[in-house]
Amino acid sequence: MDKNNTKKQNVYVSEEEKTLNWEDVQNSFKKSFGNEIYVSWLQKISLIKEYNDYLILGVPTRFFRDWIVSRYLDKILEQVKSFKLSLNRIEFKIIEESRGGTNLSKIDEINKVTEIKDSILNYNRLNPNLNFENFIQGKSNEIALSYSKKVCEHLSRYNPLYICGGVGLGKTHLLNAIGLELQPDNNVMFISAERFMYHFIKSIKKNDMVNFKDFFRKSSIFIIDDIQFMRGKESLQEEFFHTFNSLMDKGSQIIISADRTPMKLDRIQERIKSRLAGGLVVDIDTPDLELKINIIKKKIIEIESQFKENINLNDDVINYIANESKTSIRELIGILNRVIAFSRVHNKILTMNDCKSILKDVFNQIKVVTVDKIQNVVSNYFNIPLSEMLSQRRSRPLARPRQIAMFLAKKMTARSLPEIGRRFANRDHTTVIHAVKTITRLSEQDDEMKKNINQIKSLLLE
Ligand code: ADP
Ligand code: MG
Repeated sequence: MDKNNTKKQNVYVSEEEKTLNWEDVQNSFKKSFGNEIYVSWLQKISLIKEYNDYLILGVPTRFFRDWIVSRYLDKILEQVKSFKLSLNRIEFKIIEESRGGTNLSKIDEINKVTEIKDSILNYNRLNPNLNFENFIQGKSNEIALSYSKKVCEHLSRYNPLYICGGVGLGKTHLLNAIGLELQPDNNVMFISAERFMYHFIKSIKKNDMVNFKDFFRKSSIFIIDDIQFMRGKESLQEEFFHTFNSLMDKGSQIIISADRTPMKLDRIQERIKSRLAGGLVVDIDTPDLELKINIIKKKIIEIESQFKENINLNDDVINYIANESKTSIRELIGILNRVIAFSRVHNKILTMNDCKSILKDVFNQIKVVTVDKIQNVVSNYFNIPLSEMLSQRRSRPLARPRQIAMFLAKKMTARSLPEIGRRFANRDHTTVIHAVKTITRLSEQDDEMKKNINQIKSLLLE
C-alpha cells in the first residue's frame, strides 16, 4: 500500500516540494519549545529520511526516543507539518544502537512479523460461541443485526460499517459473528482499539513500525472494537487514520464498534469522525422486555443441552429477572447464571421468593459502591481528570459529571448529604441537593442523560 501511495503522490508532488529544510525546522523548534528544551532534546534530532507523508528522524538513544515520544511527539508533528502539509506521522530511529549493528536480515523481518502475529492472535482469537445463530433478534438490535449479515454478503457495500451502543448490548458479539462468517474466505483481522494501541506502542518502542503497518494493512476484513478508546490519543489516531485510509483504498471491508455515534465521540479528530460516519452507522438500543425474555429462554435451552439437565424456571421468575435487569444484556445473563447456580446447589425449583432473595444479593452489591469508586468511574467515563472534576471550576463539561457523581453517591451509597458534600472538595450539602434534583430531572427528560447514568451504574456494579 505504501508503494501505491508514493506512486500516486509522485504525480502531484514535485521533488522540490518534497524536500524539507531541516535547519528551518530546527529553528522553529527552538522558538516553539524554548531554548532549554530545545538544547536538551530537540537539537539532537536529525532528519534521516523523508517520505511524502512521513519522516524518519534519528535520535541518540532509546531513552531519548521514549522521552520525546511521550512528551513532545504531537507538538513536533504539528511544527513539522507547518513546513510540510502532507506529513502525517513521524518515526524514530536510534542512531547509535543501529550503527555498527548489522542490517536486518530477511529472516529477522519474517520473525518479527510472526511475532506480532502471534501476540495478536493470542489475544484476539474469534470466539466461536459468539455467532449469528445465537444472537437473538429484537426491536433494539434488528437493524444492526440485519446489516451485520448484509455486510457479509456484499463486502464493501457498507464501508465502514459502524455499530454503536451502550455497554453490554451485543456489539462485540456482532463483530465477532461477522468475523466468524467471513473468516473462511478472507484475511480477517479482529482487534480491540486497546490492543491496537498496545501493539502500536510496542512497535514504536521496538522500532518496528514497518512490520506493524504491513501486518494491519494486509487484512481484507478489518474489525476494530471499542474505538472510543482512542479519544485523546493523538498519535494513535494518526496511525489509525492512516491504516484506515490504506485499507479503504485497497477495498478492504472495515467494521467498527463504539459506545456512541461517530459525531458524538469526543477528543477524536474531526477528519476521523467524518471518515467513520462515511459508511453506514447502525445502533443497538437497550433491550425491551420481549428481547430479554427471549434471551433468557434461549440461554436456558443452551445450558440444558450443554449440561444435560433440566432447568425449571417458571414464567413469573423469568419475567422478574427480565424486569430487574435494565441496562445491559451482559448483566441479564450474569443474573440468570446466578439464579441457575442457586437452583443447582439447592436442587429445587425456584419460587419467586427464592429468586427475589438471590437478586437482593446481587443488587446489594450496591452497598459496596463507595464515593471514591463513583468519583473514579464517573471521571473515567467522561474522560476528565478526577482533580478537575472535584475542582471549583464551573464549566459545564466539568459541572455535569460532578453533579452526576454526587447524584450517584446519594443513590448508591448510604452516605448523608453533608458527608457527600465533604467528599466533593468540601462542598455544602445544598450543592449536593441541587445536583441530585438537577440530574433526577435531566434523566427523566433527556434520553442521553438516562443512557449515561445507566451505563455508569452498570460499570459501577460490574
Ligand atoms: P458489548 O460489546 O456491546 O459491550 P457484548 O457483545 O460483549 O456487549 O454482549 C454482552 C453479552 O451479552 C455477551 O455475552 C453476548 O453474547 C450477550 N448478548 C448481547 N446481545 C445478545 C443477543 N441479542 N442475543 C444473545 N446474546 C446477546
Ligand atoms: Mg464489547
